[in-house]
Amino acid sequence: MSHVGVIGIGNMGNHMARNLLKNGHELSVYDLSETVLHKLKSHSSKVTVCKNPREVAEQSEVVLTMLPNNDIVLDTYLRDDGVLKGATKGKILVDSSTTAPSVSKKVFEHANKNNVEFIDAPVSGGVIGAENQTLTFMVGGAESTMKRVEKVLLSMGKRAVHCGDVGSGQAAKICNNMLLAISMIGTSECLNLGIKLGLNPKTLTDIINTSTGRCWSSDSYNPVPNMLPNVPSSNDYKGGFSTDLVLKDLGLAQDAATDTHSTIFLGALSHQIYSTLSNNGFGNKDFAYVYQFLKGNK
Ligand code: NAD
Repeated sequence: MSHVGVIGIGNMGNHMARNLLKNGHELSVYDLSETVLHKLKSHSSKVTVCKNPREVAEQSEVVLTMLPNNDIVLDTYLRDDGVLKGATKGKILVDSSTTAPSVSKKVFEHANKNNVEFIDAPVSGGVIGAENQTLTFMVGGAESTMKRVEKVLLSMGKRAVHCGDVGSGQAAKICNNMLLAISMIGTSECLNLGIKLGLNPKTLTDIINTSTGRCWSSDSYNPVPNMLPNVPSSNDYKGGFSTDLVLKDLGLAQDAATDTHSTIFLGALSHQIYSTLSNNGFGNKDFAYVYQFLKGNK
């Protein structure tokens, strides 16, 4: 088993760290929040709390970062007491945060100069997938590096898919999440229209789920309350995938589309719709809240 460093012990990182412990790994961890570090440390004697990202890298064979955004990831790797200052040849660095592909490429360039291996490995599956060890890792970078670190990844998830060169894990993640955001709005519009036409939402959902309109938002994450148990829409849109995180991913998609001269009419419109939700105070609600927003009662 490896000694793994985990930086970013938030909603995702905390569950991922606990699954690494469950699978026999020892951990060195760092986060800005003393509270999350204290909680994890009191959970297991196999956790060492570090003063900075450099110390995490010095103590670990594999370093995993699970951080909020581009700037924080770059800073955590590149600053004076950052990961790259403690990473020596033979260590493997894995960024599972969702960032722009250009961020992964920049970190890779710096790591490569020091003969340190780096892959981007953003995840799908959300907080529930992180808790249940069912995440899918979308990996960009050398396939040989992915193979070397696969056991560690599969201590936190069920699948690691090689997508191509560094940055291509992030590219796959951004494309998938843009489609998810669009299909959630489409599902919400359709159900709202059907209900206003007098259809029973359960009947309409059944029809869609056995017809050509079926998608994840209709069959596994329905935005109308009480269509499915254990989904955020049946729990006042609490937990799940927040509107602000979808908005972040759509911003990355928008930037990537600008860089590559790609036309994304619906991706751009979705960005504006979720931005409006966020600006109206619903940023912390699950993104399926877009149904309530379209319905117009709240
Ligand atoms: P979060 O905000 O819950 O956790 C982030 C953690 O990073 C926090 O504990 C915070 O204290 C810590 N942090 C912030 N700045 C730091 C710094 N400079 N140094 C060290 N620690 C720092 O976020 P999350 O939901 O765990 O998401 C993490 C990443 O995973 C994001 O990039 C997100 O887009 C991605 N992601 C999230 C989900 C989800 O459903 N939550 C799903 C897939 C991917």
